[in-house]
Amino acid sequence: MSEPDVAVLVEQLLDQHPPSATPPTAFFGARFDAGLAWVHYPVGCGGLGADPEQQRVVEELLAAADAPSSYPLNPIGLGMVGPTIAHHGTEAQRARYLRPLYSAEEVWCQLFSEPGAGSDLASLATRAERDGDEWIVNGQKVWTSLGHKAAFGLLLARTDIDAPKNRGLTTFLIDMRAPGVDIRPLRQMTGHAEFNEVYLEEVRLPANAQLGPEGKGWQVATTTLMNERVSIGRVMATMATPAETATRLFVERNDRDPVLRDRVARMWMESEVGRLINERAGQLGQTGDPGPVGSIGKLFSAEHALRVHNLIVDLLGADGMLYPSFGGDGSPIEHAPQVSFLRSRANTIEGGTSEVMRNILAERVLGLPRDDHGPRDRPWKDIPRN
Ligand SMILES: Cc1cc2nc3c(=O)[nH]c(=O)nc-3n(C[C@H](O)[C@H](O)[C@H](O)COP(=O)(O)OP(=O)(O)OC[C@H]3O[C@@H](n4cnc5c(N)ncnc54)[C@H](O)[C@@H]3O)c2cc1C
Repeated sequence: MSEPDVAVLVEQLLDQHPPSATPPTAFFGARFDAGLAWVHYPVGCGGLGADPEQQRVVEELLAAADAPSSYPLNPIGLGMVGPTIAHHGTEAQRARYLRPLYSAEEVWCQLFSEPGAGSDLASLATRAERDGDEWIVNGQKVWTSLGHKAAFGLLLARTDIDAPKNRGLTTFLIDMRAPGVDIRPLRQMTGHAEFNEVYLEEVRLPANAQLGPEGKGWQVATTTLMNERVSIGRVMATMATPAETATRLFVERNDRDPVLRDRVARMWMESEVGRLINERAGQLGQTGDPGPVGSIGKLFSAEHALRVHNLIVDLLGADGMLYPSFGGDGSPIEHAPQVSFLRSRANTIEGGTSEVMRNILAERVLGLPRDDHGPRDRPWKDIPRN
C-alpha cells in the first residue's frame, strides 16, 4: 500500500477547519478524524497506518499554520494513556476512548504510584478482586497529577497476591467519578496543587474496564512508563526558554565574569544536546513502544533543568530570593523563574527518579548486572512491607 500524502491531508484539514475560526475542541476532533493525530496508528484510531516519520511533517505544517495543540490540555492522556490504549486495548476500547482523549474532552490521569510503591512500583498494594463479571477495587494512590480534572484514570492494581510482585498485576480504565473514588489535592512547595491523593474504596469496575490480559499489567504499565519518559523529556526539551532566559539575564547584567559566562555557554550547549536527544527519543517513541532510550532523554533533561534553573536564580542576584506575586486563585504566577526553580526539583522525581533512570540505563542499555531485588519468584504476599 502506498504512503498517504500527509501534506495534502493537512491542507484539507486547514481548509475545512481554519484554526482561527474553529473552536479548539472541534479542530482536535477533525484532526483525529483525518488520521492526523498519530499518523502511524490504524485508520479509525486517529491514524493512517503511515510511517511514524510522517508525524513530524504534520506537526511542522500545523505549527506553521498556528493550529492549536491539545497536548497541554491532556498531557497524560496524549503522552501516555493514548499510546497504551492503542497498543493494548480492544477494538471497542480504542473506539470508545481515543477520540475524546485526543480532543481533550476527556482528561486522563495515571493511578500508579502509592505511598509505599514509587520507584519499586511493582510492589504496589491496591487490590482488584473479582466479583462475578465485575472487579472491586480497594487501595490508595498518590501523586496523581490532574486527578482533580480527570474523567478517567489508568489504574494499575494487584489481582493475584500469590504471584511474584510484577506478575500479579492488571491494568484498568477507571471512571474517576465512580462511587468510592475520593480525590484529595496535595499542595506542592511552588504553591500549586498539580497532584492529588486518591482513595479507592469498594470501587466497582465492569469487566470491559480491564486493559490487556489479567496478570499482564506490568507489561501494559511498561508501555505507559516508557512513553511517559519520552513525553516528559520532550516537554522539558521544547522549553528551550531556561537557557534563553539565562543568556538574556547574563547579557542584561553586562557581566564580564568569565566563570558565569562559561556556565551560561555550557547551559546553552546542554539545552541543545537535550533537545536533540529528546527529538531522537520522540521519533523512536512514535512507534508506541520507545524502549529504554526515553530514559536517556528524561535523565538528561531533568538534571539539566536543575543546573539551568540554579544558574538563572544566581543571575537574578537578590531578586532570586523573592517569590512572585500570587494570581487570583492564590497560586503563584506560573512562569516566573523563581517558581520554575522550585518546580525543577520535581523533574528529577516525576516519571521515575534520576537514580532509577540510571539503573535502567545500566541494566537495559549497558547490560550491567541487575540490582539485587531478592528472589524473583517470591510471591508478593510473602515480601516484607512497611
Ligand atoms: C510532580 C510529580 C508528578 C507525579 N505524577 C504522578 C502521576 O500522575 N501518577 C503517578 O502514578 N505517579 C506520579 N508521580 C510519582 C512519581 O512517579 C514517584 O514520585 C517516583 O516514581 C518516585 O517514587 P517515590 O516518590 O515513592 O520515591 P521512592 O521510590 O521512595 O524513592 C525515594 C528515594 O530513593 C531512591 N531510590 C529508590 N529506589 C532506588 C534504587 N533501586 N536505586 C537507587 N535509588 C533508589 C529514589 O531515587 C529517591 O531518591 C509524580 C511525582 C511528581 C514529583
